[in-house]
Amino acid sequence: MVKKTSTRLADGRELIYYDLRDDAVRDAADRRPLERTVTTSEIRHDELLGDRVAVASHRQGRTYLPPADQCPLCPSQGERLSEIPDSSYDVVVFENRFPSLAGGVGRCEVVCFTSDHSVSFADLTEEQAGLVLDAWTDRTAELSQLPAVEQVFCFENRGQEIGVTLGHPHGQIYAYPFTAPRTALMLRSLAAHKEATGGENLFDAVLERELAGERVVLESDHWVAFVPYAAHWPYEVHLYPRRRVPDLLALDDAARAEFPEVYLELLRRFDRIFGEGEPPTPYIAAWHQAPFGSLAEFEGVNRDDFALHLELFTIRRTSGKLKFLAGSESGMNVFINDVPPEAAARRLREVASS
Ligand SMILES: [Zn+2]
Repeated sequence: MVKKTSTRLADGRELIYYDLRDDAVRDAADRRPLERTVTTSEIRHDELLGDRVAVASHRQGRTYLPPADQCPLCPSQGERLSEIPDSSYDVVVFENRFPSLAGGVGRCEVVCFTSDHSVSFADLTEEQAGLVLDAWTDRTAELSQLPAVEQVFCFENRGQEIGVTLGHPHGQIYAYPFTAPRTALMLRSLAAHKEATGGENLFDAVLERELAGERVVLESDHWVAFVPYAAHWPYEVHLYPRRRVPDLLALDDAARAEFPEVYLELLRRFDRIFGEGEPPTPYIAAWHQAPFGSLAEFEGVNRDDFALHLELFTIRRTSGKLKFLAGSESGMNVFINDVPPEAAARRLREVASS
């Protein structure tokens, strides 16, 4: 990132431009007559399951698949005013107008990857993808400083099949006021493994095992991608930096510099899994970072034991067919995966860029 400019939208929400050029001037004001959305997020604790549900009734009225000429994530043009006051941008982040988490219970932000409405993340240049990584990292640093925030989750939902309601290439950042249940499960496994082995790190052990096996999808100097042994989804890839770090802030320059090339290649392979003529592969890309809150309940585990990684998966299992979370998955949390992880890894190697 070369330049960062923070401003406020008409209703008081924060908006930040991340620019590749240091001479970018971002002084356009939001000219919309916008009133602050009344947010009523509430976090409820499920005592039996030990997890939490964000109840956010104000979201029912949110924008749903608007035509391209009314896209709220395109830059403003003349009298067509969008969420982004300027007439251009590189990467922009702003507080969601319809947040799932709001007020004292966390924060939701939108990350626009590019001002070009018609492309996908996979179409970005390495320079643009590097700027998105910078934005994710900077937001993680800033949001982790908010008093209520315990964990920062950067992610992208891609495709209407995943429930995306805006076609513009964008992702989101959720800052949770608690440690997410899946992260807590990993921390518990880490603690148990450390205890059982006299100090071994479970992430390191898994990575070592996967590197020696047949599910590696891609290796570079600083990153490794593989389909995990017990993949839950038809095509699921976990991307780890070779040097274990707890979060995006701790990634070294060499790993940061190499990330765009590696990640863009993975996304492009995802679009080739199902062959020519198939619509773009719907996917979820999820960054797992160590929480910033207390780890006291995970005995013996430190923040540095956690391994930053990205989990990328699709809900498409074969051409034209989606994997639904049905009885076993939704009812019992037991996943049934129709694609053997070894076959998924083979396919993801076959479709490598030549
Ligand atoms: Zn757009």
